[in-house]
Amino acid sequence: MTTTAPSPLDIPALLTDGTHLVGGEWIPARGKSTLDVVNPATGEVLARVPRGGAEDIDDAVRAAEAALPAWRDMSPSRRADLLFRWAQLIREHEAELEQLEATEVGRPVGPSPLAPQLTFFAGQADKVQGHTLPSHTPDVLGLTLREPYGVVAIIIPWNAPGPMTVFNVGPALAAGNTVVLKPAEDAPLTPLYLARLAQEAGIPPGVLNVVTGCGTEAGAALPAHPGIRRVSFTGSPVTGSAVMEACARGLVPLHLELGGKSPQIVLEDADLTRAVPTIVRTITMNSGQVCAAGSRVLVAPSMHDRLVEALAEGFRSVRTGPWHQPVDMGPLISARQEQRVLDYLRIGREEGAEVVVGGGKPAGDPYDGGFFVEPTLFDRVRPEMRIAQEEIFGPVLSVLTYEDEEEAVAVANGTRYGLTATVWTRDVGRAVRLARRVEAGQVSINTFGSGGPVGAIGAPFGGYKHSGFGRSMGADAVEDWTQVKAVVINAGN
Ligand code: NAD
Repeated sequence: MTTTAPSPLDIPALLTDGTHLVGGEWIPARGKSTLDVVNPATGEVLARVPRGGAEDIDDAVRAAEAALPAWRDMSPSRRADLLFRWAQLIREHEAELEQLEATEVGRPVGPSPLAPQLTFFAGQADKVQGHTLPSHTPDVLGLTLREPYGVVAIIIPWNAPGPMTVFNVGPALAAGNTVVLKPAEDAPLTPLYLARLAQEAGIPPGVLNVVTGCGTEAGAALPAHPGIRRVSFTGSPVTGSAVMEACARGLVPLHLELGGKSPQIVLEDADLTRAVPTIVRTITMNSGQVCAAGSRVLVAPSMHDRLVEALAEGFRSVRTGPWHQPVDMGPLISARQEQRVLDYLRIGREEGAEVVVGGGKPAGDPYDGGFFVEPTLFDRVRPEMRIAQEEIFGPVLSVLTYEDEEEAVAVANGTRYGLTATVWTRDVGRAVRLARRVEAGQVSINTFGSGGPVGAIGAPFGGYKHSGFGRSMGADAVEDWTQVKAVVINAGN
């Protein structure tokens, strides 16, 4: 939480207006047109970025192809050194990075995971290993090599542009790939500044290229480009499906990180003094625009009233406003996202859910100029309701009840998503049983998620079911960016 307004960020001192990074050069789009990046707390234009298209993507892929042999064949220790240096510069420029991301996304500044996570990936660069294989005769030596794919594409959303850049670009580079990154049109500034720091760290020209632009233009051109050897996409399931179709046409392997409708299962013996602040925080952090947000609370009837009362108190105490004021929650990213969340608030009411706190758009100063909605608590939500099934991507929490553990598991697993889940209990046996039975790529017990001060270092992150496949973070992520080659040597005469 920030208590005093920092001096406005001098964005032109960090980034040259209207340019993106191709082959080590900061240049405008070939078509010369630009996109405005808007401050979501005020609606004011913060900066302009190139509106790249297929030609710009082609330039970036060619630059990445030219940079590939030297980067791929560089000693992994040297690659690690360069990534460590990038992480160090990120640490040194943490204040600017946090303020830049806060300004373009509207989120109050929080602890930055960027440098620690990149440090982890840098440390993996010289630990990519193959195996030796058993052989039928002693004269034969069989082994596997793990090699990078080559030039890869990374497409990221707007909700956490800094982390999304580092969590995806970090392992791809550590494994020896060269990258074309396409940030979201609403929040491209932090990825561009991170790329500038990568350049300053000595990462060679063309190893990391950033092309800004619209999804249907620069974005769509990436999986369709014949030079791209693997794609990583983070975003909505609808767009993920379109990217998958494009990859299928070109037979390009794909990593998908999509949305979530993550359950928070509260058992009868849960410690509510620990659970409630975390549950409130995880759905109001970044105004609920977090793929892993715990957006459904599942509670036993015996504990229902006590939990809803405590959650209501927690929701009422969330201070909302521009990120640089003493607030807990900022605006949503855009007018479009505001309308989407307001639509779900209406749908929830129409479906018969009960609004306990919030339910609309706050009025007056400072809310009128920005894209604010109230943190909203819905009670009496049934599993089949749309607000219990669909990802809202806003500060909206649904409370559902279950009769027994069997039903808790059925409700928890009863959406098409499977990104994360949390179990709140003091009973280790039930915690273990539920952790095994819940369909999610990551399960937390009495905490939330793998990041943050109580997080596990190197925990893989990714989805089951429609939440995606493949893993970012962790050593698995670096391995995911490699392909396996078997080598068989006949040493006999
Ligand atoms: P989106 O799918 O609209 O856009 C994501 C990215 O894809 C943007 O860069 C966009 O420009 C690009 N894009 C759009 N159309 C494209 C196309 N046809 N081809 C190629 N690229 C295209 O998603 P969004 O609205 O920016 O982000 C919100 C969604 O992202 C939510 O559903 C959220 O759950 C999800 N998300 C998931 C994770 C995760 O790790 N699982 C993390 C953050 C966000």
